[in-house]
Amino acid sequence: MIVHWHRRDLRPGDNRGLARAASADEPVVPLFVLDPSVLEHASPVRVACLLEALESLRSWYDAHGSDLLVVRDEASAAVPRVATAHDAATVVWNEDYSGLARERDQAVRAALADEGITAESVHDAVHHEPGSITPNQGDHYSVFSYFWKKWRDRDKRAPADEPESSDLAAVSGDPIPTLADLGFDEPEATPPTVTTAAARERVADFCSGPIYEYAALRDYPAESGTSRLSPHLKWGTIGPRELYAATERAADRAERDADRESVREFQRQLAWREFYAHVLAFNPNTVTEDFSGYDNEIDWRDDPDALEAWKAGTTGYPIIDAGMRQLRADGWMHNRVRMLVASFLTKDLLTDWRAGYAWFREKLADHDTANDVGGWQWAGSTGTDAQPYFRVFNPMKQGREYDPDAEYIREYVPELADATAADIHGWHDLEPAERERIAPDYPGPIVDHAERRDRAIELFERARGES
Ligand code: FAD
Repeated sequence: MIVHWHRRDLRPGDNRGLARAASADEPVVPLFVLDPSVLEHASPVRVACLLEALESLRSWYDAHGSDLLVVRDEASAAVPRVATAHDAATVVWNEDYSGLARERDQAVRAALADEGITAESVHDAVHHEPGSITPNQGDHYSVFSYFWKKWRDRDKRAPADEPESSDLAAVSGDPIPTLADLGFDEPEATPPTVTTAAARERVADFCSGPIYEYAALRDYPAESGTSRLSPHLKWGTIGPRELYAATERAADRAERDADRESVREFQRQLAWREFYAHVLAFNPNTVTEDFSGYDNEIDWRDDPDALEAWKAGTTGYPIIDAGMRQLRADGWMHNRVRMLVASFLTKDLLTDWRAGYAWFREKLADHDTANDVGGWQWAGSTGTDAQPYFRVFNPMKQGREYDPDAEYIREYVPELADATAADIHGWHDLEPAERERIAPDYPGPIVDHAERRDRAIELFERARGES
């Protein structure tokens, strides 16, 4: 027998590691390990998504005369044990590029070697693996636009087929534990449905029309302009090649140049995901350290009350509060608003990006180490792409521009349900008595944006040794 160890590839099709295992002339034993040292870093919403994806994958194996063995133990103990019990000479898995995952895989490799079992890993989660798109000097790009041009022009692989029933071992495992069994509370957010069927439905819907409006609508949080595929890409309930192939078919069906460009714009976002995977693979320490350091430490403020107001969505900046409440309610936040709330925390509240990253990691169903760290460091002006430290988003202007009718804000901030868009977007300029009259339960701004913007610039200038 041969073991395929599923990790963030919770799907049967377009799975390079699984296809590789199935191509061996031996039945495949599918395995997933609930490793306590990985679960230690998890949160209720993410574990809820994981368990749903596992149940769904397990049903697929069941319908194909097999089962997904779900084992609770340290991976370095569980993987060799399952392989030995099934007399498997080889274990296959798909690469994961975060530092913690690579340390774990190293330990598993060593434990397998001790038992005389071969470990084979395959690149699957991205089209072009870290180290394969490089500048003339160095192991990865730090500027996205150069990366994108090369990524875009490279040939892409076709998705691999699902294994046949005859490729699979007739195994049978224990029930999958529940959230409570694993010691997690019910999530605060309603988790998205994370199954391959749901992912495929979303891809089909998105590529049948909305993808052509993506470029025009993707920045407007009140519109359903983006794919909302991020939880699926995080857990691998859809494969990158299958998704890309669907976008290419949409491009072939496009009737106007603008439609084709919109598909390109979507593919460009998929490349951002791979860009950050490359950055993290070569800089695993950026989960905790700044990617681009300044001469001096950034003198972030420690203001627990402000941090709590940001988390609760009670900063008195409507677009910020709507985003932070969307995060708690849905386990997801629109990209434009992620940029705004991250800028607000770092530049208006002058708070270390790591505090925001920790909260996103707790609350996002799609938390992905590479994308989350990348997004936070970009917003905090410590990241890869040249995001100048003096660019500070103005939350009121951004709200007016990207949620002009304040629909998104009213959806998530019910205290403002009866306020006009003009009052919502001018909230910081209203007299306190006026605010009290319009929405007595909604707070005034906790900081003055103009004053904080100047302070943020000073903070970064000091870090650069300029004042
Ligand atoms: P779409 O616009 O439909 O894009 C399709 C896919 O492309 C996404 O699912 C995602 O995989 C990828 N993508 C899109 N934008 C980006 C981007 N800027 N960076 C990297 N990949 C991108 N994305 C995550 O997947 N997980 C995170 O933990 C995460 N944290 C973020 C934190 C901050 C502070 C910021 C500014 C962005 C973060 N992003 C993260 C990126 C982006 O906000 C989400 O990928 C996007 O909002 C997901 O919604 P969607 O699937 O509808 O995106």
